[in-house]
Amino acid sequence: LAVGVPRETFQSERRVALTPQNVQVLRKKGFGKVLVEKDAGASAQFSDEQYTSAGAIIVSRDEVYNSSDILLKVRPPLDGQEVQNVKAGSTLISFLYPVQNKPIVDALAQRKVNAFAMDWIPRISRAQTYDALSSMANIAGYKAVLEASNNFARYLTGQTTAAGKIPPAKVLVIGAGVAGLSAIVTARRMGAIVRGFDTRSAAREQVQSLGAEFLEVSIKEEGGGGGGYAKVMSKEFIAAEMALFMEQAKDVDIIITTALIPGQPAPKLITSEMVAAMKPGSVIVDLAAEAGGNCEATRPGELYIHNGVTVIGYTDLPSRLPTQSSTLYSNNVTKFLLSIGSDSKFSIDLEDEVVRGSIVVHEGNVLPRVVPPPPP
Ligand code: NAD
Repeated sequence: LAVGVPRETFQSERRVALTPQNVQVLRKKGFGKVLVEKDAGASAQFSDEQYTSAGAIIVSRDEVYNSSDILLKVRPPLDGQEVQNVKAGSTLISFLYPVQNKPIVDALAQRKVNAFAMDWIPRISRAQTYDALSSMANIAGYKAVLEASNNFARYLTGQTTAAGKIPPAKVLVIGAGVAGLSAIVTARRMGAIVRGFDTRSAAREQVQSLGAEFLEVSIKEEGGGGGGYAKVMSKEFIAAEMALFMEQAKDVDIIITTALIPGQPAPKLITSEMVAAMKPGSVIVDLAAEAGGNCEATRPGELYIHNGVTVIGYTDLPSRLPTQSSTLYSNNVTKFLLSIGSDSKFSIDLEDEVVRGSIVVHEGNVLPRVVPPPPP
């Protein structure tokens, strides 16, 4: 079977779905050919020469689409020409966001493609090695702290120098899932005082174990719904947490928000009034920007200054660390592909929980999702 890797064409996307190292792995496992589009890895610092040495064949874009039995991508194929180019009867593995991208899913079904969504891989222990959402969230949390620091005019760490004592910066992280915990650990390593907040009580111990303070409100309400995911909180709870954030806004230098509820718009937790209450020079990084943002002032995809406060709403943080994110994504996708089968043994087994959980189109049929997000 031929595995194909096109260059990602989504605006400013720098990742690539497969690294040279994993080309070698797939070749060793018996895949007949790995076809890589010319310059597919260039933005992630993987050269065509590295791919060739690993056993890939560098080809044109047309040839990747025409000749690949299994197509590996990061972003969903773009609606229109790109999705029409996916070879009929082939298998696609990429982030797909099937609910938001229904026309793309329908086009894949028409082409009798088998399509897997990396964003639908069930979050069970066995599937952790394929969990690309967690890999990307981990990178986004790390990069969020670096972006905040780059736009903050002071140290994050405290220092005692001959020129005077410097206090550490204070960082508030709202939402302590994968991205939030990664932001907390990064800010701690840079020496900041870090506070974390989450609606799930299980997050308390995790936040504290990273050396951060866990903030709480007086209302007792459990935020953990089914499968460790968050649920929509009561109006009273949201009001109490927002009152807490208003107080925090006056005190902290950096706020990183990551609060998300699967299948729901991001809760609006930081109002323009809170932004105005922050000290000039403060920074907000809103990791929920793509889902509408946790902060009223966020402009998705942009960095701008709102009353002296820098508000960062970048939606491509993993792509801003392209070598790292490509490496982890490629590891996730390669292990997932090999779990389905290698070359002559490649067969889609719908009895396999991970396969069934992540498959969106099977032989041209759009299958219903078996692991729906927990009800709100
Ligand atoms: P996420 O990206 O969906 O959400 C981020 C965080 O926002 C969550 O921790 C959530 O509780 C929090 N949140 C929601 N509403 C909030 C509010 N109003 N105020 C403050 N915080 C709010 O979450 P995630 O990173 O996908 O992680 C969710 C859970 O899934 C975690 O418990 C994580 O450990 C677990 N998980 C398990 C696996 C696995 O078993 N393979 C893999 C990844 C994550």
